Amino acid sequence: MSRPIAATIHVESMKHNLACAKAQAPGAKAWGVVKANGYGHGLERAMRGFADADGLALVEVDYAVRLRELGWKKPILLLEGFFDPADLHTMAGYDLQAAVHCNEQLAWLEAAQAGLAERGIKFDLHLKMNSGMNRLGFMPDAYAAAHARLSAMACVRSITMITHFANADDAEHPLLPIAEQVRRFEAGTAGLAGARSLSNSAGVLMHQQTLRNDWIRPGIMLYGGSPGGATAESFGLQPTMTLTSEIIGIQHIVAGDVVGYGSRFQAEGPMTIGVVACGYADGYPRSAPMGTPALVDGVRTRLVGRVSMDMLTVDLTDVPSARVGSKVTLWGRGMPIDEVAEAAGTIGYELMCALAQRVPVREG
Ligand code: PLP
Repeated sequence: MSRPIAATIHVESMKHNLACAKAQAPGAKAWGVVKANGYGHGLERAMRGFADADGLALVEVDYAVRLRELGWKKPILLLEGFFDPADLHTMAGYDLQAAVHCNEQLAWLEAAQAGLAERGIKFDLHLKMNSGMNRLGFMPDAYAAAHARLSAMACVRSITMITHFANADDAEHPLLPIAEQVRRFEAGTAGLAGARSLSNSAGVLMHQQTLRNDWIRPGIMLYGGSPGGATAESFGLQPTMTLTSEIIGIQHIVAGDVVGYGSRFQAEGPMTIGVVACGYADGYPRSAPMGTPALVDGVRTRLVGRVSMDMLTVDLTDVPSARVGSKVTLWGRGMPIDEVAEAAGTIGYELMCALAQRVPVREG
């Protein structure tokens, strides 16, 4: 028998979460963001879960090609654009849309445009503005010029104006509130015609009434994770990935006994310790401290001792039903991934994406 660990992907809940996103933004089209292997859920599963999306968006050119091979017929958007001129041929061959965020990409397009136009190739492109996050995109005062350069190219069919929010989950952010990013976006796009795309999950869930989007770009909310600000459950989202394992060993210890590497936990009295077949080599965060919640036999308990490569340890003292073989839920249905992430000093996004290849994945 293999190790008793598995991730269960809830495709129906992915559909539910997409419907939530669409309901928040009536009139807008929705990209389902499926980068990083569908936030760790598997590309093909994400494709099925988000079959009702108007398009799928990701950053990996090879995975975009894979989506076409899997039969995805609707638009595909490369959120970081193309990484070298050769990608333009892949985009043409597989009908991929792309974000353009820097002068180098403009120059590659200009150099290739005559050849592309000769072959009758036209791209739907997305011109990205750096509205304050200082990751990708043209500054607001350089945006119109970039737009004009793109508009002049025979190989460009349409230009969607896009930007990305740094703090959409925190409207009162002291350094870069969403209102300031929107102000810069409006200033930089003034007088330019075309579709607009601004909202990530936090934008969709918390600011949709005030934002004008032709296309929304939700990611984490589709996977039942909170983008911040409030719990996923309070937004009506359902978990889409449940990581379960089993108790594979039980130790009865007394006051003064220690648990795990580094002997970081010392019992103050008699305790029952459960050993769970899940460790950091499965994608469980090693940074999860003692006290991080887990469910055993449906009862909420806590980690004790350090997470090791293949195992972690939980307190079973108040779970009298626990036996070798008892079911443990590390995150997902019944144990919000965001709670585990917060305890470990990270975010649900990272836990989903870090699910290790060795963990068997099933659907249910
Ligand atoms: N749009 C862009 C450009 C992104 O990079 C991302 C993810 O980081 C998203 C949308 C989706 O963001 P979220 O998962 O927070 O909804």
